[in-house]
Amino acid sequence: MDIKASDQVKETVAKRGLKVDDVMDVIKTAEGGNKKAVDKNTGKILAKKVINNVTVYADYNVEKGILKSHANVNSAYSHRMTLGKIVNATEPSNWTCAHCNAPAFLGTAEMTYMGVSRNGPAVVCPKCGDVWVEEYLATKTLAAAEGLFEKKKA
Ligand SMILES: [Zn+2]
Repeated sequence: MDIKASDQVKETVAKRGLKVDDVMDVIKTAEGGNKKAVDKNTGKILAKKVINNVTVYADYNVEKGILKSHANVNSAYSHRMTLGKIVNATEPSNWTCAHCNAPAFLGTAEMTYMGVSRNGPAVVCPKCGDVWVEEYLATKTLAAAEGLFEKKKA
């Protein structure tokens, strides 16, 4: 599948210390294994892959052409916390787990960083145990928590 990213998206990727190639890798892996969360209203896809201890996310849409489909990258982000088990699934969401073809929920999952485990907000699939962190949470809440942890250890 061809993957397209605008210059603006590429700039965001670079600003966040990520590589465009890694974002492409995330999408290829997600499409290959059908492991992704899909927003059932907009078709927006959320995929992730751990690359060098960092969980890299791609937010993209698949556009079906006459001959072939391509992925359009909307955004990319990452977090350094390691995702663990689902703690709870509290609220229905717009997300569907593509792998299970089952609804995903808003809930809480274990997140570990620098040897400390905390519970954090996530999109969770109780069926397969997969967990995703949405962009606004990864770039704000998780990034702030990671910064605090790093300060404590320094
Ligand atoms: Zn699932």
